[in-house]
Amino acid sequence: MSRIYNFNAGPAVLPLDVLETARDELVDFNGTGMSILESSHRAKAYAAIHQEAQDNLRSLMNIPDNYAILFLQGGASTQFSMVPMNLLLPGKTADYANSGSWAAKAVKEAKKVGSVNIAADCQKEIPTRVPSVSELRLTEDAAYLHITSNETISGAQWKTFPEPECPLVADMSSDILSRPVDVSKFGLIYAGAQKNLGPSGLTVVIIRKDLAEKAPENLPTMLRYATHIENDSLYNTPPCFSIYILALVTRWIKKQGVETLFRINREKAAVLYSAIDASEGWYKGTAAREFRSDMNVTFRLPTEELEAKFVAEAAKAGFAGLKGHRSVGGIRASIYNAFPAEGVTALVGFMDEFRKANS
Ligand SMILES: *Cc1c(COP(=O)(O)O)cnc(C)c1O
Repeated sequence: MSRIYNFNAGPAVLPLDVLETARDELVDFNGTGMSILESSHRAKAYAAIHQEAQDNLRSLMNIPDNYAILFLQGGASTQFSMVPMNLLLPGKTADYANSGSWAAKAVKEAKKVGSVNIAADCQKEIPTRVPSVSELRLTEDAAYLHITSNETISGAQWKTFPEPECPLVADMSSDILSRPVDVSKFGLIYAGAQKNLGPSGLTVVIIRKDLAEKAPENLPTMLRYATHIENDSLYNTPPCFSIYILALVTRWIKKQGVETLFRINREKAAVLYSAIDASEGWYKGTAAREFRSDMNVTFRLPTEELEAKFVAEAAKAGFAGLKGHRSVGGIRASIYNAFPAEGVTALVGFMDEFRKANS
């Protein structure tokens, strides 16, 4: 078996442990004589997985009892619409921090639903960053403040979260469970699973239950949080297999703890950023230092030609997925929870050799 170092931004690397367990259990799940892929979502075997996935998230993130954990579909992108449809009530304004490509997409959808105030805008700044808490211009009595905790494309991450009087809503798609977070400070957290939690096809929503109760009555049933809260995410068929993998991934996280993972994540990122900084400007970090992401390390080379060569030679050397997002170019190394520290060390070795050979 040969596994390469997978720097994909999402879907992304999964723990080998998890893949092996899924393989071993695939044909006959827990002595049921059938695969979990073939199980009814109302069957006992699946119910236990559904519950475990929730329980693991609740304990890992210390999610208080007045919050529901939902397993939805449609990706984080559907949350760009569901959040305002449910929480941006008539006559109210929602504050949005426009920090990059993902935040901008959330803004675009919210504007279709209601009144939006851009509380800060650094979407197009280079070096890339997210707003600092002090520059936010918040609306009095806002419906909520929306932030993107980690801008996956630009590689900028909130290190300190704002504490507005209104509910704080966060798109944590690319850094959920990578660091400890006080859930009680948020009204709603959502994340597409395919970066740090599991495979695609599943979106996790953590919502303070009282916020869901005020949604307009005329919303489509499937787009109301209340529907999914009342039905324990079983109103319709949930993405059972993705939830199963999430249960395995969170089992794997529980063995180490979020604090440990956070320390490892920070160390992995620091090794890469140090290599960038030690290159005397040959490799240039894309994000402003204080906002550098621990999950997506973005950088440039002296020319686009060298970037293309870097990606091609890296791929040959066993480093996959280093090409930056098509909208911004450059290099992006996504080093989520499941990405091994050895892979970062190996990449740094490759970067040193590539620079010597090409400068
Ligand atoms: C990937 C990503 C999304 C989009 O997720 P989908 O599940 O593909 O809709 C949204 N926000 C952030 C921060 C992301 O990284």
